[in-house]
Amino acid sequence: MVATPIGNLSDISRRGLEILGRVDLIAAEDTRHTGRLLVHFGLATSRVSLHEHNEEQQVPALVARLAQGDSIALVSDAGTPLISDPGFRLVAAAREAGIRVSPVPGPCALIAALSASGLPSDRFLFEGFLPAREQGRRRRLQTLREIPCTLIFYESSHRIGDALRDMAEVLGGERRAVVARELTKTFEQVQGDTLEGLVRWQSEDPNHGRGEFVVLVSGAPQQETGELTAEAERVLQLLLGELPLKSAARLAAEITGVSRNILYQRGLELR
Ligand code: SAM
Repeated sequence: MVATPIGNLSDISRRGLEILGRVDLIAAEDTRHTGRLLVHFGLATSRVSLHEHNEEQQVPALVARLAQGDSIALVSDAGTPLISDPGFRLVAAAREAGIRVSPVPGPCALIAALSASGLPSDRFLFEGFLPAREQGRRRRLQTLREIPCTLIFYESSHRIGDALRDMAEVLGGERRAVVARELTKTFEQVQGDTLEGLVRWQSEDPNHGRGEFVVLVSGAPQQETGELTAEAERVLQLLLGELPLKSAARLAAEITGVSRNILYQRGLELR
């Protein structure tokens, strides 16, 4: 399972390149797309296509080749295979057949976005793409409303505006969120605000609706508690490094569920 870049070609790992050059075959979501990547790095390994619509037919032949001793690298068009991309059936069948499946880790849009978002990263739920139609999308969002950890979505330029609007309406316009756009590319942006603020931000400039998107939304606010937890203190300290006390206490309360007053008092002491 070889991860490939999500934009910046320099992000492929040395091991990934070495393996792509050495395997007997590359199973690629789009053979032409992967062909361009290989040409860029001076490689010419044979390729076979493995995408959403042919995976089921392709799996037996690929597993048979693996069983004969051939090595196959699986890649998708961008990022880590199987993450909102094909490959699950192949991996399951190969493992079932006793074949070693090994990851060559690398770029993954959701992890890259989370790492730069400033939203809690200790627990998160990756939802992938929301349903394309409004009714299905809103229904899915309803099921996520009470979940207390960071929610992560993939979104395309066709639907980013509608998706943000539905998130604001169903999850609550006051929730903190981040839109990570065109990561690792020339026009990379990681924009944080409330969901309501992001709806406005997105509609005020056509460029804000272009490219590829990861949307991250902070989890459902937890019941405020009067007890200052170690985690709340850690969050408060981090935020105090960047923000005035009042904002730091408000955000820390939103993130951790500890009362804003208690965090404010503790912030005064820490200062
Ligand atoms: N396998 C990929 C991964 O590891 O992230 C994801 C593939 S999925 C079909 C494509 C979606 O990932 C895009 O619609 C977008 O939501 C997200 N994505 C991929 N590259 C991105 C980038 N450079 N910036 C922001 N989002 C990106």
